[in-house]
Amino acid sequence: MNDKKALGIYIHIPFCVRKCLYCDFLSDTADSSVINDYIEAVKKEISYTALDCVDFKSQFEVKTIFFGGGTPSLIKSDHISRILDKVRERFDVSEEAEITIECNPATADLLKMKDWIKSGVNRLSIGLQSSIDGELKLLGRVHDKEQFEETYKNAIEAGFENINIDIMSALPGQTPESYRKTLEYVIARKPKHISAYSLIVEPDTPFYEIYGEGKTACADFGSNEPGEKRVWPDLPDEDTEREMYYLTEELLAEHGYERYEISNYSKKGYECRHNISYWDGTDYIGFGVGAASYLNGIRYSNTSDIYTYINACMQLDRIREADAFDMYTEDEEMSFDPCSYLTDEKYHEQIHKLSLQEKMEEFMFLGLRMMKGVSKSEFKKRFLKDIRDVYPQIPDKLIKQDLLIEEGDSFRLTKTGIDVSNVVLANFLL
Ligand code: SF4
Repeated sequence: MNDKKALGIYIHIPFCVRKCLYCDFLSDTADSSVINDYIEAVKKEISYTALDCVDFKSQFEVKTIFFGGGTPSLIKSDHISRILDKVRERFDVSEEAEITIECNPATADLLKMKDWIKSGVNRLSIGLQSSIDGELKLLGRVHDKEQFEETYKNAIEAGFENINIDIMSALPGQTPESYRKTLEYVIARKPKHISAYSLIVEPDTPFYEIYGEGKTACADFGSNEPGEKRVWPDLPDEDTEREMYYLTEELLAEHGYERYEISNYSKKGYECRHNISYWDGTDYIGFGVGAASYLNGIRYSNTSDIYTYINACMQLDRIREADAFDMYTEDEEMSFDPCSYLTDEKYHEQIHKLSLQEKMEEFMFLGLRMMKGVSKSEFKKRFLKDIRDVYPQIPDKLIKQDLLIEEGDSFRLTKTGIDVSNVVLANFLL
């Protein structure tokens, strides 16, 4: 029997054709020499982490691998296969592992998709966002509906069966009618999975200049004439946003999509295993710039500066060589302990060992995001306490308010609880 712990691997590819106006992800444009250096750096990080820190091969089995970004579909398929080869060389990857790549329309042709399949990728996540060209343009997306259509057709022809489509609501100028068109368009393509998020206006994005707190939908940005302010369509108001939210639920349910997490819907058996592993507390390692990891109770993330990241990985390589030939400088010999790598601030920023209290909080508020809820016996197994002892009165208060249901071994959110999930989940912060 295989008693290894499950492990998820995330690989961040931080390159995009250009920046979308609402995006605060760690991504940017780059030339091919930076991309090549970056891929080499990621491979070194994978090698180093696996070789010197934890005996991953004997302790963990990799159940999921996820290439996210940025736009992973932008880089050569050869880069993806070389990274996967390195992961397989250093980790025990399950034969049934779910291997996903995020893909933006117009960044991958049929040939590239066939190459992905050859290298073992078996799930595709395509960022459509909207099927209305005017809305895509306002978001600053590089593709239109026709290019999505072509990408989707190629994905099917290449042999992808497990496909997710990302869509967004609450977009500038979007109406329930136009959103319905996007939903109907996506449903008609019959993907196995649909992620439906609401637009959030994040600081430090062009959209914040236009729609941020206290701003009117009017900005220099996007105007054709210098100094002239362009008037942008308003964001939908709260009631309209709610209407779109209910429409998502209703239409997707009508067409056999089961909601298994607040913003994620799938046909039975096609839930995204990688995302579920984040919500159920499985260990995962993120490789690449800014990537976050959670391993043996420690949460840490890599530097968010790409040049620092590349240099740090090259340095790791030098230290390995020095290790092989006993060539440390005296200072390095004094200070370098390979096994402390995971918690070494030289390589990782934001290293945090979770306290017992934080682990219990995460168990509750990540677990309750999923429609199946949290298991009372699993909580007891992990923390040797009952949920009700740790959170006296809270479950009963929420049950009385019709926000939580207790059913057999689980607590889960009610329909009303899902609608106000942020408020409900905040109750589980100790
Ligand atoms: S494609 Fe995705 S990651 Fe790239 S800029 Fe647009 S939203 Fe951000």
